[in-house]
Amino acid sequence: HNPADPHSVELTVNAPEQMRELGHRLAKLLRAGDLVMLSGELGAGKTTLTRGLGEGLGVRGAVTSPTFVIARVHPSLGDGPPLVHVDAYRLGGGLDEMEDLDLDVSLPDSVVVVEWGEGKVEELTDERLQVRIHRAVGDTADEVRHLTVTGIGGRWAAVDLTVLGA
Ligand code: ADP
Ligand code: MG
Repeated sequence: HNPADPHSVELTVNAPEQMRELGHRLAKLLRAGDLVMLSGELGAGKTTLTRGLGEGLGVRGAVTSPTFVIARVHPSLGDGPPLVHVDAYRLGGGLDEMEDLDLDVSLPDSVVVVEWGEGKVEELTDERLQVRIHRAVGDTADEVRHLTVTGIGGRWAAVDLTVLGA
């Protein structure tokens, strides 16, 4: 097959704690230079997943919603890559503004997770992991979330995404 072809897995998560555990498994697949784009409505669980990812990567500081800052850098507590957590919601200009953020880490040396990045940061790299989170329509108490995780580009072609469903 074409190594640039995207491939996907569908996952179901039943509670916030499971979303964090998914983040732990996802962290094991990630390395410096990776871009993860999270999409889903407000309250879908994007930040909860990123919190688990930060725990799995072993970075400093609790991951919280970056709503009032555009990006937050969480340095590694060990020798792994830092986590750069971006909320692109108000990032009008996309890539140019990302480069203007003046972060004290380089993005190629980091794991970059972007909430609300669709249509804005694709140009950062043609290789990315796209995570789409859906919740049952009309049931705000429901803790069930359906996820589609898609690997795009050669980086992800040989990665077995089914391990995320463990
Ligand atoms: P987002 O970043 O997408 O706006 P958050 O992660 O900040 O979402 O918030 C998700 C909210 O939904 C939290 O209050 C969390 O406790 C709740 N929640 C309920 N079920 C789940 C689930 N399965 N996964 C993640 N969060 C869930
Ligand atoms: Mg959020």
